Amino acid sequence: MGSRIFYTLIRPAGTHGGRRRGTPRLEERCARAARSLPAVTTPDFYALEELLEPEEIEIRDRVRAFCEKEVTPRINEYWERAEFPFELVPRIAELGISGGTVQGYGSPGMSAVAAGLVAAEWARADGSVGTFYGVHSFLAMQSIAMLGSEEQRERWLPAMARMERIGAFGLTEPRHGSDAVALETTARRDGDSYVLDGQKKWIGNGSIADHVIIWARGEDGAVGGYVVDKGTPGYEATVMTGKTALRAVWQAEITLTGVRVPVENKLANCSSFRDVSRVLDRTRYTVAWRALGLATAAYELALAHALGREQFGQPIAGFQLVQDKLARMLAEITSMQLMCWRLSKLADSGRMTAAMASLAKMNHAAKARAIVADARDILGGDGILLDHHVARHHADMEAIFTFEGTDSVQALIVGREITGLSAISGRRPERG
Ligand SMILES: Cc1cc2nc3c(=O)[nH]c(=O)nc-3n(C[C@H](O)[C@H](O)[C@H](O)COP(=O)(O)OP(=O)(O)OC[C@H]3O[C@@H](n4cnc5c(N)ncnc54)[C@H](O)[C@@H]3O)c2cc1C
Repeated sequence: MGSRIFYTLIRPAGTHGGRRRGTPRLEERCARAARSLPAVTTPDFYALEELLEPEEIEIRDRVRAFCEKEVTPRINEYWERAEFPFELVPRIAELGISGGTVQGYGSPGMSAVAAGLVAAEWARADGSVGTFYGVHSFLAMQSIAMLGSEEQRERWLPAMARMERIGAFGLTEPRHGSDAVALETTARRDGDSYVLDGQKKWIGNGSIADHVIIWARGEDGAVGGYVVDKGTPGYEATVMTGKTALRAVWQAEITLTGVRVPVENKLANCSSFRDVSRVLDRTRYTVAWRALGLATAAYELALAHALGREQFGQPIAGFQLVQDKLARMLAEITSMQLMCWRLSKLADSGRMTAAMASLAKMNHAAKARAIVADARDILGGDGILLDHHVARHHADMEAIFTFEGTDSVQALIVGREITGLSAISGRRPERG
């Protein structure tokens, strides 16, 4: 870890890497500053790597190396053009990490710690590519693994593990985000098919996926998962434009008009919204890791910049107010690392509750949001230039703050757990 990492992260690339004539390379300036100040640049301040298993370190380093070579150098241009680097998909497949903790069916069956480390590495490089992976691997594949029958798992997961087939998770609707439990999309049985009607919004990979899991309400009022295969008539997806965060990954607005799916495409073990929540509870801890990854990148970049940037005749890292910011960022990151590790250990031993995951998502997203804002400030004007990467992380953090349950909704889940009173509906609190 340490200086090698942040040098790679800050290396300018492509058209965004243009060095001004006469300006020493940032790496050189950092190296010069680091020589005069014996800087400890690692974000692993408490040597938490010692808590990791060798295979967890290996998987993290595999993703890290890929990101440093393939993602960081090119992502700013994609982000600016609001395009996804599709050419990376076969290379991501080669990493052999699709499905995360899913056991079998071609997936690696990682520990929850390893899955978290992978999520953090993607985020540390780029939130958009991390979102593509997260939707496919954690939301879509995990839904099938947890709620599909054996036959359904055999049918869909191996090709998804190889990333020959991409998945999406369609829950949110234009009128129902935080209250997704009230979703209005319907599924009506007609012979050997279910017929789906409704609308979805914000569905990651929704315009490109081969298998989109549409959560819809059956005639009995229960929510079920219906896998819609690419090209099914009546399924229309429009890429959402005008986003100011995660610009390099696509979300779609979806209209379902009389979409027919065969009965065997209804997830066999989903009988109510509670089952959908079980999937979300199971994947939410990875979002906490993602917030950690983004915060780590922002810290590393801010530290590197502060060591290299001189004002008033000295590196700005030498000013007390800048050091105060850096020290507080590192303190938060260190506590986030510890929480993530422990939460994943609880997940691995089957003891992670929904509220435990929500506590980490709430805490980490809020802390990471403050950290990227401080990093942006430390970079001064450079903090709003894509070249320096922090601007992208700063923008992307806004989406992570909101998705898979907003800050307030996570607080309400924790509040219900610690008081026994549910305040989520806004009505008079009920016993949770
Ligand atoms: C980039 C991105 C990617 C996404 N990807 C997917 C995806 O792949 N699949 C999918 O199904 N969804 C996806 N989503 C949807 C995401 O999960 C929702 O945006 C999120 O749940 C919030 O819903 P909303 O945007 O409708 O906000 P709203 O629910 O309208 O919330 C607006 C505000 O009201 C507050 N609020 C709402 N209810 C309460 C309450 N009871 N008490 C206090 N405050 C409350 C919220 O905290 C928030 O501040 C994605 C969203 C984004 C931004």
